[in-house]
Amino acid sequence: MELYKENQLKIYNSLSKSKEVFETVTEGRVGMYVCGPTVYSNVHLGNLRTFMSFDMVFRYLLHLGYKVRYVRNITDAGHLESDAEEGEDKIAKKARLEEIEPMEVVQRYTVDFHEVTAKYNFLPPSIEPTATGHIVEQIEMIKEIMDKGLAYEVNGSVYFDVLKYNEEGNNYGVLSGRNVEDAIHNTRALDGQSEKKNPQDFALWKKADERHIMRWPSPWSDGFPGWHLECSVMSSKYLGEQIDIHGGGMDLKFPHHECEIAQSHACSGVQPVNYWMHANMLLLNGQKMSKSTGNSILPDEILSGDNTILSKAFGPGVVRFFAMQAHYRSILDFSNDALLASEKGYNKLMEALSILKELKASKESSFDVQAWKQKCYDAMNDDFNTPILIANLFEAVKFINQIKDNKATISSADLELLSATLNSFVFDILGLVNDSKEQGSDKLEGVVELLIKLRKEARDNKDWALSDQIRDELAGLGIQLKDGREGTTFSVN
Ligand code: AMP
Ligand code: ZN
Repeated sequence: MELYKENQLKIYNSLSKSKEVFETVTEGRVGMYVCGPTVYSNVHLGNLRTFMSFDMVFRYLLHLGYKVRYVRNITDAGHLESDAEEGEDKIAKKARLEEIEPMEVVQRYTVDFHEVTAKYNFLPPSIEPTATGHIVEQIEMIKEIMDKGLAYEVNGSVYFDVLKYNEEGNNYGVLSGRNVEDAIHNTRALDGQSEKKNPQDFALWKKADERHIMRWPSPWSDGFPGWHLECSVMSSKYLGEQIDIHGGGMDLKFPHHECEIAQSHACSGVQPVNYWMHANMLLLNGQKMSKSTGNSILPDEILSGDNTILSKAFGPGVVRFFAMQAHYRSILDFSNDALLASEKGYNKLMEALSILKELKASKESSFDVQAWKQKCYDAMNDDFNTPILIANLFEAVKFINQIKDNKATISSADLELLSATLNSFVFDILGLVNDSKEQGSDKLEGVVELLIKLRKEARDNKDWALSDQIRDELAGLGIQLKDGREGTTFSVN
């Protein structure tokens, strides 16, 4: 199925600052690179929102019939504190504080990231390369940039020469819109301390001081690569000199992505990325969710309800629904009330999907299912407009409930089309999961039914102590038994 031929997808390109018709470098094939997590701590819900936006993009591209190679890296070295040029490596710092090896930190949080993304129903990327697995390639790229005369060495460190790059007719600032030359002239006098020629120059290689335990030999010093370099190296290695889509959170636009463009362009002479996509921030208490300020909540805390912000636990389907109710380029405010509201909408949607299974067809439809389907695609084709898509899905929900109440009718062909389309958008594209059918819930049901049976046997034998014990201990686990005329039922809190 090559739906992409019928559907003109438009993507907002941060580079041109406009929506453009999506054209791939190679017909029908998409190369997409997304900056992955720095594995020095658990990902918070903000990080997850960004990755979820690209999971949705990946899913829609696949749905349209593109062959997608999706590369999302793991940053396991080189990302310094506060994204600055100085300071300790985030992973090395964590290792020092916890008195473990840096690679133990990397392993722990990589595993955690994979567990979280699996719980939240992410599709795995096609390739997940690591920075430390590509040190050789990074050293090669630095050599190439030096050969072009666009980098210089000072005291064992190598810096990219931003001013020279711009003097050669390039535009460092093309993505972020920053006027770098003005910035250079204004700040030069203030920056007497640095070994860089200009404060805007950025590190390609840093010499490691004696404290820095993550180090590799290079022609310049025992040291480590600059953070921006890994993405230039891994995107070109796995996707080529020109890739279709490069994504990341909005806060990576500058300096990270600006530096990536300069490095890659310095080597290849071409614009490395056709569509730059940036996902907007998740806010908590009006501020960007961020681990370092403590203003964050973890994906696992949402699933357990174990955080004072939350009144209860929420399933992954509700959280995905909450995230998809906002456009990926809009900021999104997190709160318990917002999740409660999303849960209502989500439950309505899931309920309609189960009603749909039982609906009976009539001769004619009183709803134009074909036109509705096109509206769903139109929404997604307009820069992945998931909030509009969801509004359309709720038109279908309304229609389904009307059919159930005998206030509307649907033909059998339309019933099939409605069911196939709704299921695709809800499960394949938005990636929602039916939380009520979470893995293991049917097993729990079986176990509780067994206990109810044993309790009945105890009661029949007048063993009140055992029957009360079963009821009370289940209540302690949040499972309430209710004795009625039809027998005993249960509910889970
Ligand atoms: P990091 O692990 O710090 O490299 O971040 C991983 C991804 O999460 C990057 O794409 C960031 O832009 C993104 N990110 C960080 N904070 C937030 C937030 N509050 N909301 C959405 N995305 C975020
Ligand atoms: Zn990156």
